[in-house]
Amino acid sequence: MNLHDKTSAIKGIGAKKASALKKLNIENIEDFFSFYPRDYEDRRERKEIRSLTDGETALIKGKVILLVKGKSRFQRKQTLKLLVQDDTGSIEIIFFHSGYLDKVLIKDEEYDFYGKVSVSLGKVQMLHPDFTKYEPENEQTILPVYPLTSGISQGEMRKWQKETAVFLPEVSEYLPADMIDRNRLCGIQYALEHIHFPKDKQKLKEAKYRLIFEELLLLQTGLLAMKNRVTANQQGIQFSNAVRMEEYASGLPYKLTGAQRRVISEINDDMESMKVMNRLVQGDVGSGKTAVAACAIFKAVKSGYQAVLMAPTELLARQHYDGLQKEFLKYGIKTGFLSGSIQAKEKKILLEELLSGEIDVVIGTHAVIQPGVKFFNLGLVITDEQHRFGVNQRAILSQKGENPDILVMTATPIPRTLAVILYGDLDISIIDEMPPGRQPIITRIVNSETREASYEFVKREVRKGRQAYVVAPLIAESDTMDIKSALGLYDELKEKFKSFIIAFLHGGMKQQDKDRIMKEFSEGFIDILISTVVIEVGINVPNATIMLIENAERFGLAQLHQLRGRVGRGEEQSYCVLITSGKSKIAQERAEIMKSTTDGFIIAEKDLQLRGPGEFFGMRQHGVPDLKLADLVKHIKILNTVRDEAALILTDDAFLAKQSNQDFRKKIDKLFQQTVHFSI
Ligand code: ADP
Ligand code: MG
Repeated sequence: MNLHDKTSAIKGIGAKKASALKKLNIENIEDFFSFYPRDYEDRRERKEIRSLTDGETALIKGKVILLVKGKSRFQRKQTLKLLVQDDTGSIEIIFFHSGYLDKVLIKDEEYDFYGKVSVSLGKVQMLHPDFTKYEPENEQTILPVYPLTSGISQGEMRKWQKETAVFLPEVSEYLPADMIDRNRLCGIQYALEHIHFPKDKQKLKEAKYRLIFEELLLLQTGLLAMKNRVTANQQGIQFSNAVRMEEYASGLPYKLTGAQRRVISEINDDMESMKVMNRLVQGDVGSGKTAVAACAIFKAVKSGYQAVLMAPTELLARQHYDGLQKEFLKYGIKTGFLSGSIQAKEKKILLEELLSGEIDVVIGTHAVIQPGVKFFNLGLVITDEQHRFGVNQRAILSQKGENPDILVMTATPIPRTLAVILYGDLDISIIDEMPPGRQPIITRIVNSETREASYEFVKREVRKGRQAYVVAPLIAESDTMDIKSALGLYDELKEKFKSFIIAFLHGGMKQQDKDRIMKEFSEGFIDILISTVVIEVGINVPNATIMLIENAERFGLAQLHQLRGRVGRGEEQSYCVLITSGKSKIAQERAEIMKSTTDGFIIAEKDLQLRGPGEFFGMRQHGVPDLKLADLVKHIKILNTVRDEAALILTDDAFLAKQSNQDFRKKIDKLFQQTVHFSI
């Protein structure tokens, strides 16, 4: 047998077991090595029965002195009870549904039992322990506990792991020796041996460290290699250094913040350089990303190229268009709007003008990526609110020009370390400063019993001339959950707020209707807007000062943060009211975080800690594979070390093409094989 033999080469593994193993991604001998335990049982020390405490998991050695088989009145299945004794005391051991166990366990024999202890009213018990007949040479070890699938038992998996471990010496090291030295890593054979059958906790720790390091290294190197591939040999556009973004900025009614200026200059450098810009701009809601985008568009157009700005919703695209079109016109820049809802005739003219170069900038929804949309000379592609668009959509858009520069803007704050993973293919700029003079939003947490009082509060504010948003998680009532729906609220509040004008908005509505309502709201004709999360992204209505969110526990922190960002955009004091019925500790903690800070980066960091990276808006979607041992939050320190090592490897071999890197490269391919858009 060798490493690459199928699992069926192992004695005892037939077609059935082999197919069950396949479900665990174990197809050959080698695959067993990388199928890591999810936990360990520490069976190194036997406990005295007298010393057992409630709740602990322990190994004991004892003699069976009583064996009672029976069926209780309520249970039709057989139950087996044992009384087991050592020199210090006795314990009751119970197996429900015991089947033939009474033939296996024998009175007056000694066994090792391993299981969870319960002590109640002086009675010491163990339910369903693992057991083996006591032999003086019984190994006292740390045993691996594997995640399993039906058809395979823990015992079988352990046995196969033991058997295949014989082949470990055939595994060769694929990390460079100097990297291993520098980071004091253990070798691969040692790591694999001790991740499965650790001799002690220290060795387990060393093994784990090495394997986590390796996993993160593969991830990071893979992502960076992909980025190298994307930008390699691409001749980008060198935009004119005679066109100065400051010229546009100085025409704005306000002074740019320091952060805006810094980011603009980073973009400017990219645009003037030969390489293709691939830059992500992260900035909290309201940090002024639009002005930054506008400066870049100005530069592109004044250098003789066209630009496109794509937004995820019609509302947002329309808002960008309304604001920018006028500004641009001052400089003779002609802007067009494109979305699914514009008339065919209008669209035809627009497409012609784009192709002829008559129009300089097009702002729109994903309608701009349709095949019929062609440019005269597209030089700059900007997408707003990145996480709504896939990598592919960005790629399609950029293919409409010849290696245009790409700018991606997102208001979803992601801790930098994670951003490097999520957006491995992009350079990152952060606008970490808010325009001056904003009053911090006051956030209140309200439980459903005091809901009425918050409605009164809304009334008072609206009477002062302000406007309010009321957001609910669902459109219609659900039978199974006790959740306020937007529609239900609308009916309820129509009554309560008789003297005000209220309107209802949801994602399923016709575009024209949505647009009309938003227009009326932003012009002040609607006092209270009740909606689902459609207003999440980008809407700017400075006179709206209240954001009331029903069932706030149903929203993610990042989402709540986005919603709250809809208010606090004008001069008046703004409020965010979170109505929550979530009583769990996490729900409370989340609410407290929202109350204590308005910094999107802090919120994102906490969100990540509470939810873990897996749930942090679908990492898979971003092309990040599932990790087995590494945790992007817990192991952030290792991640930082690994980043330098990855850079070192790629400086020497940008596409991992060298012969010496082939084993390593194969490992990367394997890690990424489950995700869609990975290729180096
Ligand atoms: P976001 O980053 O959420 O897209 P916007 O670009 O919509 O933010 O900007 C939010 C508001 O702040 C807009 O009304 C914009 O005119 C204003 N703004 C942007 N930059 C500044 C600044 N430096 N000083 C004052 N107001 C600004
Ligand atoms: Mg914006």
